[in-house]
Amino acid sequence: MRPIDRAWVHAAVQALTADANRSADTHLLRLPLPVPAESGASAPQVTVYLKDESTHPTGSLKHRLARSLFLYGICNGLIGPGTTIVEASSGSTAISEAHVAAMLGLPFVAVMARTTSPEKVALIEREGGRAHLVDDPGEVYDVARRLAAECDGHYLDQFTNAARATDWRGNNNIAESIFTQLALEPHPVPEWIVVGAGTGGTSATIGRYLRYRGYDTALAVVDPEGSAFLPAFAGEEAPSARGSRIEGIGRPRVEPSFEPGVVDRMLGIPDAASVAAMRFLAARFGRRSGPSTGTNLYGALYLACELVAAGRSGSIVSLVCDGTERYDASVNDDAWLAAQGLDPAPYADIVERAWATGVWGG
Ligand SMILES: *Cc1c(COP(=O)(O)O)cnc(C)c1O
Repeated sequence: MRPIDRAWVHAAVQALTADANRSADTHLLRLPLPVPAESGASAPQVTVYLKDESTHPTGSLKHRLARSLFLYGICNGLIGPGTTIVEASSGSTAISEAHVAAMLGLPFVAVMARTTSPEKVALIEREGGRAHLVDDPGEVYDVARRLAAECDGHYLDQFTNAARATDWRGNNNIAESIFTQLALEPHPVPEWIVVGAGTGGTSATIGRYLRYRGYDTALAVVDPEGSAFLPAFAGEEAPSARGSRIEGIGRPRVEPSFEPGVVDRMLGIPDAASVAAMRFLAARFGRRSGPSTGTNLYGALYLACELVAAGRSGSIVSLVCDGTERYDASVNDDAWLAAQGLDPAPYADIVERAWATGVWGG
C-alpha cells in the first residue's frame, strides 16, 4: 500500500481543478446544410454542428480524458507524489496525459505502436513524457502494465477506465456542454449525436447522459476499416481485426470502455471517405482537422441526407477531435495515401453532392 499524502492529494486535485477553471468551453460550430433553391420553404432543414475539441490546451478531446483519469487515480489513492505514470496510447491520449503529468510533477511513459506518427511522439516528448515504442500494437497493454509494475508506478489504462473516470451524469462533461450550447438553436434536441470510438469513453458518456436526461436523441458510432467494434456490435465474429489507419478510433479489440448498450446504430466508414470528408471540412469551412473528424463528418452527412430523404428537419451533432498538424506523415501525405491504396476522390464527390443537395449517393 502507498501511504496517503493528503497534502499532496489536495494540491494535485486543486491543480487539476484550476486547469479546468482556466479553460473556456469548446466551440459548437454550426454548418447549416444549404437548402436547394428549387425545394421551397417547406424543405427539410438540417444543421450539422461540430463541437471543436481541437481547441483544448493539448489539442484534442483527450484533454478531458487525461484530467478525468488523473483525478480518478488520485482520488482512488493510486497516484501520489513521485508516482511514475504509464499509459498505453495511440498518441493523442499520451500527449494530454504527459501535459497533466508535468503539471503535477510526475514522470510519464507512453507505450505506443511503432507506427504512431513521429509528430505525436515529438509532442509527447515536448510535454516532458517519454515514448516506449513496441512493434506489435496488440502488445501495448501488457507492456504498459508490466512497466508500471516494475517501477511501482500507475498504469492509467484509458481503455478500461475512460468510461469509469468520466462523470457521465453531467459536471460539464461533453454531453452536458453540447446540450447547453444547443439551447437557443431551432432544434435544441438533436436527432443524432455522431462520434467515433477509440476507448469508447466519449460514446459511453454521451449515451448514458442521453438516457439519464431522457432525451430522444439517438447515438451513432462511426467506425473505420479494421476495427473490432462494428463486427462485435453486429454480432459477427471478427477473429483478426487488424486495427485502424484512422488514428484515435477503431481498435483491434473491443475495449472495456466501449458500451454497446447505449449505442443506437453503428456506421462503417471507408478510410478514404474519412480523408475526403476531412479535406472537405478544411476546404469548405477552413477547419483543418485530423482524419477521425472526417469519419465523424462523413457519418453525420450520411444521416443528414437520411433526414432530408424522410422530409424531416433537425440537428445533428458531431465532433472535431483534433487538428490536422499531427498527420503530416500520414493522411496529409499523398505518397502515404497511395501506399495505403487510399483514393479519396470518389468519396469527395459523394460528400460534395450530399452537402450541396442533401442527397446521398455517388
Ligand atoms: C480518442 C480519440 C477519438 C475517440 O474518442 P474515445 O472517447 O476514446 O472513444 C477520436 N479521435 C481522436 C483523434 C482521438 O484521439
